[in-house]
Amino acid sequence: MRLRPAQFQKTHLRVSAVLYVVFLLSSCRAAAYDTTFTAENRAHNTSGGKRFDNEIGVAWTVNMLQEVKPFIIKTFSLSPEKERDLVPWYLEDFDGAAYSINNEIHVSAGWLNGLAEPGDSSTLKFELQGVMYHEMTHIWQNNLGDYAGDQYFRGVIEGIATWMELVAGFGIDPKVKGGNWYDGYTNTAHFLDWIESTKIDSFVNRLNQKMGLEQWRNDFFLEITGTDVDSLWSEYQASY
Ligand SMILES: [Zn+2]
Repeated sequence: MRLRPAQFQKTHLRVSAVLYVVFLLSSCRAAAYDTTFTAENRAHNTSGGKRFDNEIGVAWTVNMLQEVKPFIIKTFSLSPEKERDLVPWYLEDFDGAAYSINNEIHVSAGWLNGLAEPGDSSTLKFELQGVMYHEMTHIWQNNLGDYAGDQYFRGVIEGIATWMELVAGFGIDPKVKGGNWYDGYTNTAHFLDWIESTKIDSFVNRLNQKMGLEQWRNDFFLEITGTDVDSLWSEYQASY
């Protein structure tokens, strides 16, 4: 359909306005998002809860989380930063160590209590911060895949989170020979680090980028490095 000049002008103006709004939105996207962190001790009556109040505190925890975030954003710099307005942090009485869900971080008071000898608050803070690199990675990493049903995807998600602790300078458990590339945590973290240091720069950043664009495939390893993951794992196992 041909438009009369007046109609054309109106349509054109409307299109320009829409484009302008899109432009504004995309320029906002390019900027860093502010995230508000909160911390709450919901386990005051436990040993770990008392220790948190005496040796760590809410103010230190919030400050620490604010410092951890930019490292993760920078490490995942090939992907746009995910918008996270609020990340609440809770110390609670439960079995286990720490987990993140719905952009919240939950930390076990009993686990915290066992991180360092009584009175050694610097070790306590160091160990807590290291694990927060892991949990905060879950909040910002890309995760197109089936965490519950796909052991390979799950292993890589957990491996990247522990790898973040490693590259941030917080020691993780040493390499252990054997196992599988998709074990997650320490086993996968050391493997990712080996690929990054021997095969291709910014490997984990590239992997995370793919994990935000397409559903998980084990061939992501092949597509980024030129070698399939099982061959990489064999070579890695033979390297130490
Ligand atoms: Zn995890």
